[in-house]
Amino acid sequence: MAKKVGVLALQGDFERHLAALDECGAEGRVVRLPAELDGLDGFVIPGGESTTIGKLLVRFGLFGPLAALLKDGFPVYGSCAGLIVLAAEIAGYDQPGFRVFDLAVDRNAYGPQVESFEADLDAPALGPEPLRAVFIRAPVVTRAGSGVEVLARFEDRPVLVRQSRLLGSTFHPELTPDRRVHNYFLSIL
Ligand code: GLN
Repeated sequence: MAKKVGVLALQGDFERHLAALDECGAEGRVVRLPAELDGLDGFVIPGGESTTIGKLLVRFGLFGPLAALLKDGFPVYGSCAGLIVLAAEIAGYDQPGFRVFDLAVDRNAYGPQVESFEADLDAPALGPEPLRAVFIRAPVVTRAGSGVEVLARFEDRPVLVRQSRLLGSTFHPELTPDRRVHNYFLSIL
């Protein structure tokens, strides 16, 4: 049976994630209400603006239920702003976050001059071919805890990370045709 994966659809790039999950043979489901969290095998928090996503999670009543699911080991993939919302430490910002992924992140750390760029990453866990990655106002991971597996780096900084059944990327795999990141997430559900 197809795995059911919720995609947080309050703000940001959720439609592309739904399409990517579909392409991987999963059933992507739009999530805006707490009841829509029922019966899911996993969840995606897309990129966008992490402060806004955090506030909307609270306003739509999703923050508490998701925090409880995360505590029980519910698999969640956070991309870019989604990763920030999961991170243990967000430098210099006081914003709603789950603080479950043992990472410190620095928002927009590539600076305003370099808002967006692409790079080919080495990600052996995903296979030998380079992984094309699109970074958009991306955060930098400045610390990854001992329980965090670094699956890819860019300029020595972790950009694809896993901690048990949490997955995070500072880039946007939904924007390229390569489906290995979404498939990897589905493989850990
Ligand atoms: N700059 C955004 C933030 O700090 C993240 C950007 C993105 O998700 N592409 O929340």
